[in-house]
Amino acid sequence: MVNDFIVIGSGIGGLSCAALLARYGFKVTVCESHSLAGGAAHGFERGGFIFDSGPSLYSGLSYSPSLNPLKQVLDILEESLPCVTYDTWGCCLPEGDFKTSVGADQFCEVLRQLRGETAVIQWRQLQAVMKPLGRAAVAIPPASFRFDSNALFTMGRFLPNALFQGSHLFKLTGSFSAIADTVISDPFIRNWLDLLCFLLSGLPAKATSAAEMAFMFADWYRPGVMLDYPLGGSGALVKALVRGLEKFGGQIRYSSHVKEIVVENKRAVGVSLSTGEIIHAKEGVISNASIWDTLKLIPPHAVASKWRNKREKTPACESFLHLHLGIDGTNLPQDLACHYIVVNDWSKGVKAPQNVVLVSIPSLLDSTLAPPGKQTIHVYTPGNEPYSLWDGMKRGSLAYQQQKQQRAAVMWQALERIIPDIRSRCEITLMGTPLTHERFLRRMKGSYGPAIAAGKELFPGPKTPLSGLWCCGDSTFPGIGLPAVAASGMMVANTFASVSQQLKMLQKII
Ligand SMILES: Cc1cc2nc3c(=O)[nH]c(=O)nc-3n(C[C@H](O)[C@H](O)[C@H](O)COP(=O)(O)OP(=O)(O)OC[C@H]3O[C@@H](n4cnc5c(N)ncnc54)[C@H](O)[C@@H]3O)c2cc1C
Repeated sequence: MVNDFIVIGSGIGGLSCAALLARYGFKVTVCESHSLAGGAAHGFERGGFIFDSGPSLYSGLSYSPSLNPLKQVLDILEESLPCVTYDTWGCCLPEGDFKTSVGADQFCEVLRQLRGETAVIQWRQLQAVMKPLGRAAVAIPPASFRFDSNALFTMGRFLPNALFQGSHLFKLTGSFSAIADTVISDPFIRNWLDLLCFLLSGLPAKATSAAEMAFMFADWYRPGVMLDYPLGGSGALVKALVRGLEKFGGQIRYSSHVKEIVVENKRAVGVSLSTGEIIHAKEGVISNASIWDTLKLIPPHAVASKWRNKREKTPACESFLHLHLGIDGTNLPQDLACHYIVVNDWSKGVKAPQNVVLVSIPSLLDSTLAPPGKQTIHVYTPGNEPYSLWDGMKRGSLAYQQQKQQRAAVMWQALERIIPDIRSRCEITLMGTPLTHERFLRRMKGSYGPAIAAGKELFPGPKTPLSGLWCCGDSTFPGIGLPAVAASGMMVANTFASVSQQLKMLQKII
């Protein structure tokens, strides 16, 4: 096959981009380093247990039309992704353990009990402030974006609505705390908002973009809302995208590590694999690798060192610790939730190492993820494990094993708050460190992604100074998270489609 495009990496950003390019009629090959697709969102199986390597919190996947760009990509590909819905998750906070739900009202009940009526009034005020911002955040759908002058035609019909949002549109470019601080003084709500921001962007409220939180408020705190979990786990989502890619003639090559981007006449014209094979692309190369990993693939003099140095200095979020457990599910505590957030000490800040732990038990929602009578558990410290603690350690060494045990203790303790006899139930125990993250996800220092503070800088766009080389994924606008990376892939693919193709696609999903 003569390729129009090579996509480096099969993360959700790369797969979304590649599948849409194929849908638009281009010949596309995805080169993936690993034997599995999905990057940070891949699923894997051990001993009959099916694990999510990363994401497990989804919304907007179970209905159409949806505002979630990932669902929009699936709709354009006409790929179905059956989901289970739920609305409640558990919190183990310094204030105590409780359940909370998405939706307009339940969190007010939590606040009333924990903090009293003043806190409820402040939360209602915040909801009122966020309402018009939510409308502004969705005024121009990401599916209408493209990175050429034709954007006037595809975004044009949404501009009157966007202009109607007035100053709210501009507020979206600033930090969320600049908005929240105008109505919230209650310390618990401030901590809570910091936590939500950290889980969304890897950064606290003062560095998280108002747009991201406006989108979240519009989605999570509306009446009747439910969260989704794909049947089959994150692996099912990845399979749906790969099916969509292949259905439209695209292909994915596994265990195909790209060593370098091939440049001829100052233009990216293909890639060379670590096997020595060269694959050409007529239209261009799109890198889904992180910005730091993409820079390593660009030959030394192909881009100006000023640009390279600037992008190399992009600040990075920290990494992760993971426990993937397959457990005996006999006589588990009643009313277990699928997800828990554990915070040990607010005063340390949500970013502090070992302070926040997430627990996910997806087999409670989808029993096919574990053998009969068993449960599948994923525990992780989200983007708060310093890579520096692990840098230079030899995997398999005694020191590495000892450090793993020591650093994992916080995850076991968090889990014991939920399932007190967890240690005696484990049939499979897998632990991942920042080194695992770095190796399996091919991400510099196992980072969660760029730590770009809102209000100071925007996430960079997908263009690079090297003609024919584009980027998509969490190092590019709009940033980290599945909806965002799907949007980034969609915007790049749109840029190469004709205006009429894109308008037809927009009609289908909006
Ligand atoms: C533990 C965890 C939990 C998360 N939870 C959520 C959540 O609940 N909800 C949510 O929305 N988001 C969540 N996220 C964030 C979300 O998963 C990521 O932002 C997103 O998956 C990143 O996708 P991506 O396409 O940018 O890149 P990646 O997933 O990093 O994919 C990049 C791909 O490129 C490949 N690659 C790199 N270099 C090369 C090369 N040289 N040659 C060939 N291939 C290469 C890699 O192997 C990889 O497959 C979570 C992330 C983690 C780690």
